[in-house]
Amino acid sequence: MGNYRSTDAVAPLSMAILAARTPEDIAVRFYDDKVEAIPENDSPDLVAITVETFTARRAYELAAGYRKRGVPVVMGGYQPTFLPDECLEHADSVVVGDAEGSWERLLADFRTGALRRTYEGGNERPLDDAAMDRSIFAGKRYAPVVPVQYGRGCRFSCDFCSIRAFYANSIRARAPQQVAGEIGRLGPRKLVFFVDDNLFNSRPALDALLSAIRPLGIRWSCQISIDVAKDELLLDRMAEAGCVFVLIGFESLSAENLRQMRKPWNRVSGDYLSVVGKLHERGMAVYGTFVFGYDGDTPQTIQRSLDFALAARLEIANFNPLTPTPGSPLYDRLSSEGRLLLPKWWLNPAYRYGDPIFTPRGMEPEDLARLCFDAKRKFYSWRSISDRIFGANAGFDWFRAGAVGLANVISRREVMRKQHRELGV
Ligand code: SF4
Repeated sequence: MGNYRSTDAVAPLSMAILAARTPEDIAVRFYDDKVEAIPENDSPDLVAITVETFTARRAYELAAGYRKRGVPVVMGGYQPTFLPDECLEHADSVVVGDAEGSWERLLADFRTGALRRTYEGGNERPLDDAAMDRSIFAGKRYAPVVPVQYGRGCRFSCDFCSIRAFYANSIRARAPQQVAGEIGRLGPRKLVFFVDDNLFNSRPALDALLSAIRPLGIRWSCQISIDVAKDELLLDRMAEAGCVFVLIGFESLSAENLRQMRKPWNRVSGDYLSVVGKLHERGMAVYGTFVFGYDGDTPQTIQRSLDFALAARLEIANFNPLTPTPGSPLYDRLSSEGRLLLPKWWLNPAYRYGDPIFTPRGMEPEDLARLCFDAKRKFYSWRSISDRIFGANAGFDWFRAGAVGLANVISRREVMRKQHRELGV
């Protein structure tokens, strides 16, 4: 988000995908602004930057530096896909949608001096060619997880989320054996993190993946929709295949809020406490995320959610003020209702991370921001962290205690560092 290094960065697979698709006679140099300083005076032939809403200001600033030195800049990712015209004010060319295919075309055009302004990558190409050049990550200080992608897209369409707008109805998965082969080649035992936005897009697809990776004997984590907990046999299979950490978007304890966010299905697996219990029983730690600012939210609902997170002994949690991002139905709705306080907040120098961006109905905007941060501070107090590390969710296990401890310390640090930070600086 700015010119500083973070401790929870995960290696970005998008860049490994680009590197693998770059012809061998083109030298590739990769810098990750999250974990290292970007050189200020280099002059490559071409620069490619991946951009999302929170990183847009920083990306535009970096692009300006290169373009001043006469280096053309290409942008890809969520921001160029949703706001290509904005990005084209800062770049020579943008890639909309997937990079596979469009990146190769872009490089071929660049060689002949015919770089186009826009390249359409679409979102329907099968994920059968999973070539990835991870050598570009060598020597960089990332969080101790190895990212792996099984598929793209999500069968749901929560209104605050831009995944659906990016992939539409396209839900793709790689061949499970190909994924298992890739993990097997990653070397000694590592904690694998499936970066898919929702690993549970269909039972057969998840089942096939579990069968393929179980013999590997790895430990892994993922982001997954809560309805997976409706199927206890599937939870058993996940645990047997090595799942030790799941991120679940609980979002709200209120049925009315869930309905408004197009996530009423979040209640199909029963009450949240029993869901967490089922996961803990199987040795899976839970990262629960909550979002506040829907019409039924008041200061009390934030407190209740914090109480729930502590009582349920969630290993990690996040309490975020609703953040309307371009591409999400929420952004369009709040914009049409005239409720956005900072319409282009990602470009606004007055915006600080965690600030309210719109007017909620159940509290003052400033209260929404303050109470969400308060909830994070309380959840990540040292005392609360210690309770979680030494608590007895699934019996004491050194691996679990170490992983939970590390994840909490890193989360606490990032929560404190990010809050009130101006984007881009
Ligand atoms: S389930 Fe998750 S990934 Fe899917 S639309 Fe909802 S928030 Fe987005």
